[in-house]
Amino acid sequence: MRARSQQIVLATHIKQLKDCTRCPHMVGPVVTGPAVVSKVYLIGQAPGPHEGELGRPFAWTAGKMLFRWFGSIGVAEEEFRSLVYMAAVCRCFPGKTTGGGDRVPSGDEIAHCSSWMKDEIDLLKPELVIPVGRLAIEQVLGSSLLVDTIGKQFSTTLLGHHCDVIPLPHPSGASTWFKREPGKALLTQALTIIGNHSAWQQIQAASKQ
Ligand code: SF4
Repeated sequence: MRARSQQIVLATHIKQLKDCTRCPHMVGPVVTGPAVVSKVYLIGQAPGPHEGELGRPFAWTAGKMLFRWFGSIGVAEEEFRSLVYMAAVCRCFPGKTTGGGDRVPSGDEIAHCSSWMKDEIDLLKPELVIPVGRLAIEQVLGSSLLVDTIGKQFSTTLLGHHCDVIPLPHPSGASTWFKREPGKALLTQALTIIGNHSAWQQIQAASKQ
């Protein structure tokens, strides 16, 4: 399918996604990026409490850190948003727990939302998938152990499509994992591997045009 046709199908997909109400316990609204036809597919965990109002993924403090990481390998935030498809394990804010933390999506909610991901993967056929955070890494690789997955490139089949996977830790300010060893070195290694991937280099070249 040519890029223009893909873009039209993707735009329709996003319109339908924005109307999704499958999960009664999700706070919403659905948070999604634009219809970017890309060979790089980023998977976040779920939006936080601010992204719904701001209307785009990674729009708050974790996003600042994430885009600092991508900037360090040659692609600034706005270029990234316009060149990479930004997905998530769940596209709605799950709400808070009684303890005040963000609720972890249930298995049913993850399953409901994965059908949106399946449609996107079928359409885009990404060469490089970047899962960000334990929940996303677990959905893609089946393992959520950061020391076993960060700093490495995997070759896997995701929802029926073969692709390369380079995971990143969650860039939350509350996390200390990537600020001290071995996390710090593993994060640097992961970013180097992403920067050397052919799909990323195409994004990087396009960002300079
Ligand atoms: S989390 Fe996903 S499946 Fe559930 S309501 Fe939001 S968009 Fe729909």
